[in-house]
Amino acid sequence: MSFELPKLPYAPDALEPHISKRTIEFHYGKHHQGYVNNLNKLVPGTKYENATLEQIIKGAEGGIFNNGAQVWNHSFYFATFSPAGRREPYDKLGELITGTFGSFEGFKEEFSNAAATLFGSGWAWLVKKSDGTLDIIQEPNAGNPLRSGLFPLLTIDVWEHAYYLDYQNSRPLYIQSLWNVIDWEVVVNRYLA
Ligand code: MN
Repeated sequence: MSFELPKLPYAPDALEPHISKRTIEFHYGKHHQGYVNNLNKLVPGTKYENATLEQIIKGAEGGIFNNGAQVWNHSFYFATFSPAGRREPYDKLGELITGTFGSFEGFKEEFSNAAATLFGSGWAWLVKKSDGTLDIIQEPNAGNPLRSGLFPLLTIDVWEHAYYLDYQNSRPLYIQSLWNVIDWEVVVNRYLA
């Protein structure tokens, strides 16, 4: 079994000016594709030869974990955006976010802060815990919440390759602009799944 790069549900320039076509070409076309290629080189002959990405994330170590988790994380990240989606949470997830963080604004502030203060490369996540409550966590490098039994709802990639072409060193500007392209219909559907 070989892993494939999922198709984007929008054109490469559809998220401009918030995420440029050039960033999509490098971040999706080179980095995401690169993790897929690396993973396909690493798994043959190992016990992960026929594993799913989720099995790799939960069990693997080293290069297989790093590349497998990066494939999953990027697929999840790119699938969150749309040029004309719902820009605020609603339904049960909307109520839960208001109840947990005081307001959507309060949530955005806390999530943005987690993404901005993560030292080095990694991912900020909104997760659902096994008791149904929400939490915001930081994962370094290729980290993924599935490994600790949490259910991912939303993520922001804070590796420099995610923002350097558009925002240079300003990670906070990149994070702030992402709220304009996150489609809450995708996030709410993950919560309700
Ligand atoms: Mn990335």
